[in-house]
Amino acid sequence: MAKSIATCTCSTCGAKFEKEVFGHNRAEAESKRTWAEDHYDLCPACYKAKQASDDDRLATEFHLPALTGTERQISYANSLRIQHIRHIPEYFRELRAAYESFSTPEIQAKAKDHYPNEETTPENLAKLFVRDEYWRKADYAALLESDAGKVIDAIRNK
Ligand SMILES: [Zn+2]
Repeated sequence: MAKSIATCTCSTCGAKFEKEVFGHNRAEAESKRTWAEDHYDLCPACYKAKQASDDDRLATEFHLPALTGTERQISYANSLRIQHIRHIPEYFRELRAAYESFSTPEIQAKAKDHYPNEETTPENLAKLFVRDEYWRKADYAALLESDAGKVIDAIRNK
């Protein structure tokens, strides 16, 4: 095993930063070093900042609810739901659009037919959809759940 240290330059702030690379032998380690120097162009701080702003943008786009729970739970639940949504954003756009359509008169009429004995508020319809397995629990939790503990349970047990 050979190790090499790539010296990379951040394209955002200009800082130099190092990245360890490994190869089965010296030549492989050197070739990975060159590759790394060409391809890693965000220093750890800028990477973190970019990740955080991407997360915020996604949270805004999907109108993710503010989370309640301990600070640790909130931070963990937030990263779980963001990862979950980022994995299949097109699907979540459809889900979000479906949720928004719940308040339209057409859907309300259908909902009252389908669930004559239930409240058909959008919030409650979403819960009924999970109960009746039209929606997966983890997807509901990522998009609509505000209890951080429930978000964690639903997404980890999916
Ligand atoms: Zn940087």
